[in-house]
Amino acid sequence: MSGNIGKMEDLKVYHKTILIDHTSEKHRNKFIVNWKLDDSLNFAPKAESIDSAAPLNAEDIINYSDKIISHYQKIYGSNIVFVFKGVGVMLYKDLDIVIKALKERNCKTAIDSVFLRKAYFYEQLNKGNLDYLSLYYKLSNNDFKPFLAMLQNLRQSIHIRLNINISSIEFDLLKVLMDEIMANDDQVSVSLSHDGNRDKNELNDLQLSLFHEMKESLIKRDQRLNLTENWYCGLMRCYNTEGQIGDYLPEEYVREEKNHWKGWLCWAGLEQIFITHNGNVFRSSCCQDWIGNLHDYIEFPTLPVFCNKESCYMYWNITVKKQYPVYFQPKDIVSLARIGLFQPL
Ligand code: SF4
Repeated sequence: MSGNIGKMEDLKVYHKTILIDHTSEKHRNKFIVNWKLDDSLNFAPKAESIDSAAPLNAEDIINYSDKIISHYQKIYGSNIVFVFKGVGVMLYKDLDIVIKALKERNCKTAIDSVFLRKAYFYEQLNKGNLDYLSLYYKLSNNDFKPFLAMLQNLRQSIHIRLNINISSIEFDLLKVLMDEIMANDDQVSVSLSHDGNRDKNELNDLQLSLFHEMKESLIKRDQRLNLTENWYCGLMRCYNTEGQIGDYLPEEYVREEKNHWKGWLCWAGLEQIFITHNGNVFRSSCCQDWIGNLHDYIEFPTLPVFCNKESCYMYWNITVKKQYPVYFQPKDIVSLARIGLFQPL
């Protein structure tokens, strides 16, 4: 059965979901190291983590990466992606040295940060070592040509995703940008969101309906150009008890408020880890299960964990396999095995 790609509210597939897994084999076989290089948002609960550790320098990061690589390469081979995150990550001294070293170790590298209007950073990135660049872009004027030309240049060697969050006052700018992007097919993936509370400038009904049309067109365009498949994480397929399946982007789980998996088994720690600016290591950025500190020791998980959080917000945490703890009878084993509910741990 092929996956239905579309609106969760139309398909109702999410009803009675018991398994959420990667739609693509390519994404299922990747291990993601989410590494927060600055302390702009400190996720780590103090009681569980080592607070006194100093920020890491380039040499530390490379040495600690070797520990991580030697553990996970046995399972994932060269499919390990280091994603460096944070508002100031582009300003991180020696980031290019770290990225080059990881590339030499046969890993993929990504930056997930805010757009800085400094050509220098992008020239540095354009040296052929970075694989993925995810930028949070604030719309401020309608002269997008230099910005799009810069992306056009970078995308020769880097997969690029733009994340744009708008309020009603930026809506006209968004329309100009979307026209340019859709007209040029320039292979930059775009993820849109709107924040109804920001400055109380919520989208009006007409804007909201146009906004959803834009999102739908972008999803179709991403599929046509294979941009979702070529990104390091992608759609998540849900399987329900009636044998139906549906493929959804992480933001759809949040938008439809289907991002609550308390009590479910979660593969965080097996498919990804999260490292804070001072070296604390968790299964994921929801900070469930502190598993060590790079300065001291890390106990890499070998089993999934029961989620104890009310909600799962970060898109990168949603793109981790999750399974409702199923109680079954022997007669159900074959059909449950067919949808992948059993696998050796
Ligand atoms: S909140 Fe954390 S433990 Fe729960 S499902 Fe999300 S990533 Fe997994």
